[in-house]
Amino acid sequence: MKVTDHLKNAKKTLFTIEILPPVKGKSIQSIYDAIDPLMEFKPAFIDVTYLREEFIYKKRENGLLEKVAYRKRPSTISICAAIMNKYKVDAVPHLICGGFSKEDTENALIDLNFLGIENVLALRGDGDKVTGEFVPEPKGHAYGCELVEQIVCMNKGKYLDDELLNAHPSDFCIGVAGYPEKHFEAPNLKTDLRYLKQKVDKGADYIVTQMFFDNKKYFEFVKACRDFGINVPIIPGLKPITTLKQLSTLPKVFYIDIPEELSEEVINCKTNADVCQVGTEWMIAQCKELIDYGVPCLHFYTMGRSEPTRQIAEALF
Ligand code: FAD
Repeated sequence: MKVTDHLKNAKKTLFTIEILPPVKGKSIQSIYDAIDPLMEFKPAFIDVTYLREEFIYKKRENGLLEKVAYRKRPSTISICAAIMNKYKVDAVPHLICGGFSKEDTENALIDLNFLGIENVLALRGDGDKVTGEFVPEPKGHAYGCELVEQIVCMNKGKYLDDELLNAHPSDFCIGVAGYPEKHFEAPNLKTDLRYLKQKVDKGADYIVTQMFFDNKKYFEFVKACRDFGINVPIIPGLKPITTLKQLSTLPKVFYIDIPEELSEEVINCKTNADVCQVGTEWMIAQCKELIDYGVPCLHFYTMGRSEPTRQIAEALF
């Protein structure tokens, strides 16, 4: 079923999760181990992120960085197929522009369509780890909106080799990313919203937000979107803080703020178990307020750890 139909049919706030493909060498069991503890809360759908190959850089004697190796992960598409098969729950693969030519994208979409996967979260992907710059593949897409456009074309039965194939149209429900604290490359929130609207105008059906720790940021973002004429559902993306280190890594990696009150509480913790407790309680309070506000769904970034999400779900669902 499509994500938008899940949202439309919901009688109460939905619980959904996002998982990461495991590192190479791990089996599908590691995915089941991550999902099993959360199944009793009946996730409406499960997102599976797409992680590009990771280059490992080594500093040479002359001071220059050399790309020495990369780690591959099992494919997002195969993980989605396994999830749908085992749990009979809709899986939402993330598809990115980085590393994909339009042909690669079309091939991935053909596989998804063949497997009966009806949803895709369309993203640009991050820039290079060292330079920070996002460089599209030759004959690839530079922005998320172009990927949305290609998926919409396939939904209309327009494939790249239209002349050769009389192909059936696909029927993907398309999600895109939104940033309550603005995307880090955008000069300001208004410009970012203009590009978010472009993704929606090109055919995105719903938005999932970057994580945030202050609901005010989400409420203001939703209002700004509505004022801007962005009227699709906006699903809040959520992640509890679980370690002291995340006080610096989360803002650095995701360009988000952690409220003073939360960071003070975390700093005062003696152990990571205490941090987890503080982070979980903070997230439960955030979720209760979001439910009262009427969000369609609470979407949890599990990031390889199910237990904190389990504790939050136990308190809410
Ligand atoms: P875009 O919408 O393309 O925007 C990127 C930047 O370009 C923004 O600053 C925007 O304002 C600007 N922009 C957009 N369109 C234009 C235009 N036409 N002209 C000029 N500027 C423009 N990354 C992964 O690698 N794998 C994942 O699985 C993944 N999942 C994610 C899930 C969620 C919910 C979120 C919020 C992020 C996820 N990301 C993932 C991270 C994402 O790839 C990065 O945040 C990336 O830097 C931006 O992706 P985007 O699709 O939002 O980009």
